[in-house]
Amino acid sequence: MEATVCLNCGGRISPGDRVCPHCGAPRHRTGSPEPWPPPGARRTAKLAGAIIALLIVAVIAWVIATWPRHSLTSHEPVVPNGRV
Ligand SMILES: [Zn+2]
Repeated sequence: MEATVCLNCGGRISPGDRVCPHCGAPRHRTGSPEPWPPPGARRTAKLAGAIIALLIVAVIAWVIATWPRHSLTSHEPVVPNGRV
């Protein structure tokens, strides 16, 4: 019948084998070609978290950067030149 391709090493696994005869990785069920330990899932979640954290940091940085400007423009008592 159809042999499964090992998702770990790419070797052929006969339908009777439970694990890969080449590397010993557990055989995934036939029909789902997706790798059994989703390698991208954890990385994607980590990346999403990093992006969200970066966005939060960017918003905080923006608030901090714009905040003193408003308070400075509201009252500018110190003129270092003394040109008043
Ligand atoms: Zn294998």
